[in-house]
Amino acid sequence: MKVGVLALQGAVDAHLRALGRCGADAVAVKTAEALDGVDALVLPGGESTTMSMLLDRFELRAPLAERLADGMAAFGTCAGMILLAAEVLDGRADQRSFGVLDVAVRRNAFGRQVDSFEADLAVAGLDGPFHGVFIRAPVVERVGRDVEVLASVGAAPVLCRQGRVLASAFHPELSGDDRLHELFCRLAER
Ligand code: GLN
Repeated sequence: MKVGVLALQGAVDAHLRALGRCGADAVAVKTAEALDGVDALVLPGGESTTMSMLLDRFELRAPLAERLADGMAAFGTCAGMILLAAEVLDGRADQRSFGVLDVAVRRNAFGRQVDSFEADLAVAGLDGPFHGVFIRAPVVERVGRDVEVLASVGAAPVLCRQGRVLASAFHPELSGDDRLHELFCRLAER
């Protein structure tokens, strides 16, 4: 299976390596042609405002919206989660999201002192905790009826799934633990 990582900006390489270790043919996606060739896509962490702008500049917004509407599997991590969300709070006025994950996320909302932190997460379906690395992470403030919460920090959902869309508020590619990339590849194969 060919799995792309949106490579406009942000944490791309570690995702490519993790997907490769899971047996996927992992490729960086910067163009509509490259997007056409993949079966599934990771939207990485980085800066959602910048990625939103670059999606327009690289003429990827419409093709990606179309693939997502067609049901392509997608895994959004941190900024990528923001890009998939139905509602973005504390966003920049010009940033736009794809709205394929029915959640409201508030950007940078874990608070200044704990902008970045790590936490061992109990993830539904995984044996043993997953070490989550949170970097200026979004807080999920509302979860739609069709969204399954797979892990939380306190009251805040940090890993969600809706159909073939998976999203984490943290950076799963930075833990040296490929179980969530494996989970995504299995989801994409369905
Ligand atoms: N704070 C970033 C944003 O709003 C997300 C941070 C990240 O992806 N690590 O896009």
